[in-house]
Amino acid sequence: MTQPRWLRNVRPYGSTAKDLLIENGLFKQHRPASTAVLTATDIDGQNQLLTPALVESHIHLDKTLWGQPWRANSAGPTLKDYIANERRVLREVDAPIAQRAGALLENCIARGSLTMRCHVDIDPEFGLRHVEAMQQLRESYRDLIDLQLVVFPQTGLISRPGTAELMREAMALGVENVGGLDPCGIDNDPIAQLDFVFKLASEFERGVDIHLHDKGELGLWQIARIADYTERFGCQGRVMISHAYCLGMLPWSQVKPVAERLAALNISLMSSAPADCAVPPFLALREAGVNVCLGSDGIRDAWSPMGNGDMLERAMLLAFRFDLNKDDELAAAFEAATVNGARALGCEGYGVEIGQPADFLLMPVQTLGEAVVSRPVRQVYRGGELIASGGQLLDSRL
Ligand SMILES: [Zn+2]
Repeated sequence: MTQPRWLRNVRPYGSTAKDLLIENGLFKQHRPASTAVLTATDIDGQNQLLTPALVESHIHLDKTLWGQPWRANSAGPTLKDYIANERRVLREVDAPIAQRAGALLENCIARGSLTMRCHVDIDPEFGLRHVEAMQQLRESYRDLIDLQLVVFPQTGLISRPGTAELMREAMALGVENVGGLDPCGIDNDPIAQLDFVFKLASEFERGVDIHLHDKGELGLWQIARIADYTERFGCQGRVMISHAYCLGMLPWSQVKPVAERLAALNISLMSSAPADCAVPPFLALREAGVNVCLGSDGIRDAWSPMGNGDMLERAMLLAFRFDLNKDDELAAAFEAATVNGARALGCEGYGVEIGQPADFLLMPVQTLGEAVVSRPVRQVYRGGELIASGGQLLDSRL
């Protein structure tokens, strides 16, 4: 039990100024902003924008080289070249996962992400090593961030003997989601991969999150099959398709019927809003009722030297990619980095409403749109306590 305290003079989502009472880590009540003198326990909101904490819906912490000496990207041109190159890099790097992933995780928390989904590599070479390291890391930061994992067959599932057995072992260890990867492009056996993924998820009552880079009609066909499996196994609300570039490559008339199935089955899409390829059409999908969220994907790793773990910057990149200029459109980009992610990840208790956990950001800007455009310095609160300010975590565990 903690003493109730007032968060004074804040503007939830950019509305008029309010005070909110925080008790035992939850928002308990609100009132119009009082002009009374601050007490010793009050948090002075200084008329800042109040928003829920950010949601990182797709990251690969176990692969990152964050905090390591700069390493030039030496990968060849194809997806398979990148996969082979990454195996080499991960074999050579000396720093343990706890150090690399821990440093990036702290950076993400300091920038305001308090909910996160992390894909974790599994293959016969590394076995369960990455999964076990990430589960330990999660325990070390459990009081600061809600971190869920996806077991990710980076080097293939059906086409890589031994991987399926390891994925089953990872489920038994408590990993929350079954991952997949290009059922056609990587495994060349889409039905076998989807069959395995959905049966495993169903058996352990877990979520599904499939990386889909396959392009054009081949990709769209696989999305329709993922919808079939979601329906057949009753996985509505627990399935995500990551990237789904194909949705941005085909005419909307062809995409629309599939989008309507995604909406009806509550299948979410994740985009990193990349610059180098087609991106699912954000506003049209939103209009069709599809939940689209955002993720950083790889940060400073063998895939990409880019990224900084700031989900407000990711929202800006989405807005930039689609030329979102209107305030309501910018607010939609903000939602993709917050509430849409919370929905996709199945979070219970999210938002700056009464009864929800007091996990929030304070930013010196007027509106959600201004927050996306300016990516201001921010204060990060967890359960009503300040945990980061000015991009620095107050209690580093490194
Ligand atoms: Zn990824």
